[in-house]
Amino acid sequence: MRVRFGSGALASLPEELGQIGLDRVLVLCSPGREDTAELVAGVLGDRCVGVRADAVMHVPADVAERAGAAAVDLGADGCVTVGGGSAIGLGKIIALEHGLPIVAVPTTYAGSEMTPVWGLTTDGRKETGRDPKVLPRSVVYDPDLTVSLPVGISVTSGINAMAHAVEALYAPDASPIISLLAEEGVRALASALPAIAAEPGDREARSDALYGAWLCGATLGATTMSLHHKLCHALGGTLNLPHAPTHTVVLPHVLAFNSPYAPAAVAALSRALPGDGAPADRLWWLSRELGAPSSLRELGMAEADIDLIADEVTSRSYGNPRPITAENVASLLRASLAGDRPTTTPSPSTDEREQS
Ligand code: NAD
Repeated sequence: MRVRFGSGALASLPEELGQIGLDRVLVLCSPGREDTAELVAGVLGDRCVGVRADAVMHVPADVAERAGAAAVDLGADGCVTVGGGSAIGLGKIIALEHGLPIVAVPTTYAGSEMTPVWGLTTDGRKETGRDPKVLPRSVVYDPDLTVSLPVGISVTSGINAMAHAVEALYAPDASPIISLLAEEGVRALASALPAIAAEPGDREARSDALYGAWLCGATLGATTMSLHHKLCHALGGTLNLPHAPTHTVVLPHVLAFNSPYAPAAVAALSRALPGDGAPADRLWWLSRELGAPSSLRELGMAEADIDLIADEVTSRSYGNPRPITAENVASLLRASLAGDRPTTTPSPSTDEREQS
């Protein structure tokens, strides 16, 4: 995978396409982001065969089908995604179904461009998978393109990226190098996001955030995610809660829940996050100080949804440092619903440790 990084990196896009051998690309973006997509199309000149602005969250199957058919009709040999996880996600499905490679120009901090993870939503059910075909062949990170990203989305997409790093630190397949990337990614984002909130035009902070997104995205690509990602997947898929804000609310609670079972992750996050106290508490304060949503209730969840989500999350088994039951997930969801300060759970009992 090739990467170009830095202010003005967009100018290197034609050269990147040349390296990969792409001559006819379709540019994909979200509705409302046509100006940036047209700017990119202008840089590409004759290499661009069209612009489509229909990328939306979670990649609905009908949207992917229409965009894929358009790419084939236009004789495209690849796609350039201009935007966040939604545009990249659409490109990934076209890569999966039509074999067209992707070059990503990320404009949020969610980190999807660094992963071979795809998602597709059919009849309200989101399916995800991994396939090397969907990993962008090249990523062009130009922080100038993220200056327009509103503070709210900057913060929540950045915390979404931190969530990848947090779960990479205690993943069943965690490894020393990936843990270094994760710690550095959290550190970079935790210092860049307050600077962006204070001065959205701060290009150095925008660059640091994109650097953090790169690191955190790479950790998601390299490890297996645990309870936090499964929970957010269920909340997004079943209740249609917004992706990045949901990650932002839930992360401190899952981290508090897992912390007694993940001492190495706690040590790394204690070095990376500003402030005192448990890393879960520091994260909770950070997102409050940045004005991010603090409860699932304000995102549209109701008390009556708790058992449904707890059952969904516990119906399948997957790695998590702490054993999961419907009861402990329900209690974690209750705290996230209310926006409570995360409680540092007591040290695990011997029984619980043996089960994990
Ligand atoms: P997004 O791509 O949905 O973008 C959020 C909003 O920001 C959109 O309205 C978009 O038009 C706008 N926007 C984007 N860049 C902008 C800019 N520079 N200036 C102004 N507005 C801008 O948000 P996201 O959080 O990046 O992505 C969410 C999606 O990505 C979800 O579907 C999620 O499942 C997926 N995702 C996937 C992975 C993966 O590895 N597969 C990782 C993270 C997220």
